Amino acid sequence: MRPGGRLEVLQVPEPVAEPDEMVIRTVCAGLCGSDLYKMRNNTVAPGTVLGHEIVGVVEKPPQGFWDMFPPGTRVTVSNHVPCGTCPRCLRGRISSCTVFRSTNVRPGGFAERIVVPSSHLPEGVIPFSDSLSDSQALLAEPLGCCLRALERWEPSPRGRVMVIGLGPMGLIMSLVLARQGVEVVGVDLLEERRAAATQKGCTLTCAPSEAKDQDGFQGVVLTACNGAALELALKVVEPGGWIGLFAGPSRGEPLELKLQELYKEEVDLLPSYSTGPHHMRKAISLLEAKLLDVEGIISHELPIEEIEQAVQLAENKVGFKAMLRF
Ligand SMILES: [Zn+2]
Ligand SMILES: [Zn+2]
Repeated sequence: MRPGGRLEVLQVPEPVAEPDEMVIRTVCAGLCGSDLYKMRNNTVAPGTVLGHEIVGVVEKPPQGFWDMFPPGTRVTVSNHVPCGTCPRCLRGRISSCTVFRSTNVRPGGFAERIVVPSSHLPEGVIPFSDSLSDSQALLAEPLGCCLRALERWEPSPRGRVMVIGLGPMGLIMSLVLARQGVEVVGVDLLEERRAAATQKGCTLTCAPSEAKDQDGFQGVVLTACNGAALELALKVVEPGGWIGLFAGPSRGEPLELKLQELYKEEVDLLPSYSTGPHHMRKAISLLEAKLLDVEGIISHELPIEEIEQAVQLAENKVGFKAMLRF
């Protein structure tokens, strides 16, 4: 990234791996809404290499891991790995763990080669079988985010949940909710996205203007977060229900929150940010078992040199997720 959120594809020195670190050759990386957020809101330093949805091939295993990860092993990688033993980790709040926040692969998923630090080994490197294509395995990270969030939100089977925002995350969330027996109502401004969501687990979809007339939701998932979405969520959620915050405010602006309604109706506001190796492994198992119809969620495949075009597609909400190939 260049100053002002501008992107540039350029040659950088190969990352240097210590003997206890792993080198992975990146095969493809997914463009995520959080990458767009970082670009457009200048939340990362110039020179940062973004990218945290990573599929690659082990090029050089570290000492002691040659049997577990022989060169050529196809893997996905957890960008952050929690310590697993601190009080926050023990409560399942891994993304608040200081180790989780301070460790990551170098330099980032949008690089041809990455170094996985020893803190990530072995659990942060997740092999997958040849039954999965690269693009299917790439969904381990976003699917892992959904699985982790749902453990916190605990929707009851046969309950109703509204998913606001039917981009890639909204579709994956709907698929998983439907698989858990939940009745899913999807909301999005775009007709194309609503149509896709009916194939991905939503029993009903509607535009935000019609969604206001719905009610009886034990939970509402915000994969898009803005004032209107928050207002809709508060309107349709049942007393005693929950609002799952699954994205930050669209432009980083402060949002007005009607605390009196949350208080009086005892509605829980439950954020869930990111995922880790445990849920990414679960995601890989689900994908390998072909238990979710993820076809079409990756709608564009572009060479890394065309990352700016991938960003344009995502910003204009054309299709769903873009994957960058190396
Ligand atoms: Zn992501
Ligand atoms: Zn921890």
